[in-house]
Parts: sequence; C-alpha cells; structure tokens
Amino acid sequence: MSTILIIEDEPELVKVLRSYLEKSGFEVLTAYRGDSGLSTWDHKRPDLVILDLNLPGMDGLDVAREIRRKSQVPILMLTARVDEPDQLIGLELGADDYVTKPFSPRLVIARVRALLRRAQPGTPAPEILRVGDLQIDLQAYLVTREGQTIELTPTEFTLLHTLAAQPGRAFTREQLIETTQGTYYEGYERTVDAHIKNLRAKIEPDPKKPKYIETVFGVGYRFAKQ
Ligand code: CA
Repeated sequence: MSTILIIEDEPELVKVLRSYLEKSGFEVLTAYRGDSGLSTWDHKRPDLVILDLNLPGMDGLDVAREIRRKSQVPILMLTARVDEPDQLIGLELGADDYVTKPFSPRLVIARVRALLRRAQPGTPAPEILRVGDLQIDLQAYLVTREGQTIELTPTEFTLLHTLAAQPGRAFTREQLIETTQGTYYEGYERTVDAHIKNLRAKIEPDPKKPKYIETVFGVGYRFAKQ
C-alpha cells in the first residue's frame, strides 16, 4: 500500500482528499503546516507528497526545495490560479506536477496514480538505452553519464526516455505531456519547458548549448542523433 502525505492548511480540503485517497486504497498522512509537513516527510518517507504552496510555518516552495535536496519522491503541488508564477518555480524546484484549485478530487487521484506508476514501474522488460555518453536503464530507472549516476525525477526520466528512444524525431509539447501525464491539461507548454530545463541542467555537459535535447522552434523538442 502506498503512503501519501498531504501538506495543506485548509482542513476541508484535507478531509476531502483524505477520504478519496483512502477509498482508493492509499494510506494517508496529513500536516497542516509547511514545517511540520517537512518533518513528517522526513520521519515517515511517504511514497508521494501532495503539497500546497501557501502554507503557514514554511512556504510550500521551501518545503519542495528541502525535500528535493534529499529525495526524488514524487511531489504533486496544489496551487491557486493566482499562484501561476509559483507553479513554474515549483516545477523548476523539482515538483513533478500540479493541479490548480478548485479541482475535482478524482483528478488528484488520477494524477497521484500516474505519478506513482512512473515512480514504481511494475516489471518492465530489462532494457538499456545507450545514446552518446548517456546510459538509460529502463528497469532500474537509472541514468548514468560516463559512469556517473544522474538523479532524475520520475517525470524527467519519462521525458528523457521518450525523447531518447527515437533520436531525431520531433515531439510537440502536447505529445510530451501526454507521455508523462497521460492526459492533456491547461498550462502544459510551460510545464514541459520547465521539466526540459531541469533535465538539460542535469544531463547536458553545457545546458546552454544542449547536445542531447534540442529545441525545435515552433514545435517542441527532439533528441539529437548522436
Ligand atoms: Ca494554503
């Protein structure tokens, strides 16, 4: 059974999410402040974190930053529409996805499931993709460059795998978001851009002159033929 930590200061929202998650078979932990949420995360190490942005005690972005210093656990952010600039910062800090309030609990459950599926792949066929200096191990969810392990979030891993599996093929942002989320939703373009930016920072020797992930202007991205 997967454990989900909800860090959110609106009791009604916590109640609804908890009830839906528990009905879906998840174990649920809750925290109503950023600082206590971080400490709960540290002690319990849940499988996924649902994180509100505006929190008493410690800002959600700071919580995300602290968690990412130690872990690649999937983080789903809850944001208000007015928080749009913060959503992008959140994604840059390594959050995997976000939903905008007000949202349907069913949507949150769907996103949680998608994130967990990516984080805990079942038993895929053993496969290792070698492109340039990169080695992408699909079974271990591990990427190495010249023998050095590169830590990727599940979303970054899925994006990299999608692109690298077909070098030279241009993918639209919409196609890329579908591979990572399984569904189209508003704001996907900047979401993809934020993830690609993170990915480049991690895998490219010089992120300003990417040799792996190329921008296809007006379209999206492609993995360069090595
Ligand atoms: Ca709040």
